[in-house]
Amino acid sequence: MTTRPIIDTQATCSCGATTLTVKGPVLSMLLCACLDCQKETGTGHSAVALVKAVDVTTSGTLLAFSRPAASGATTTRHFCPQCGVTLYAQSSRAPQTMLVPAGLLGGDWFNPNQVIFARSHTEWDTLPETIPHYETYREGL
Ligand SMILES: [Zn+2]
Ligand SMILES: [Zn+2]
Repeated sequence: MTTRPIIDTQATCSCGATTLTVKGPVLSMLLCACLDCQKETGTGHSAVALVKAVDVTTSGTLLAFSRPAASGATTTRHFCPQCGVTLYAQSSRAPQTMLVPAGLLGGDWFNPNQVIFARSHTEWDTLPETIPHYETYREGL
């Protein structure tokens, strides 16, 4: 049973030039161990909240970088041009949703419910064993 916290949170990048506000339900809470997330985070996995795009507003001018994702879709990361902090990412598979870094949003509501791209997970990075691990991504939420 997936819990879906309702959040109303404003987050700011490191330099303060951009902000992101999420107001609505968190659809899913993911730990992603794909190689792109390892590169972007500098560690073994990313922690992201999946939210509805219509529940997200941003301020400030963001830059975007698109790359082919391990899923075969295109992932576009939106980040502050001054400090480089990622505010959200979007997959071409699900343009109606956004992936927002848990560490950007802060708060203690984050409770990951699945690991995706476990096939590239490294042993030195500790992940909870009690939640489902998917080799790639899981269809749907
Ligand atoms: Zn910034
Ligand atoms: Zn990833």
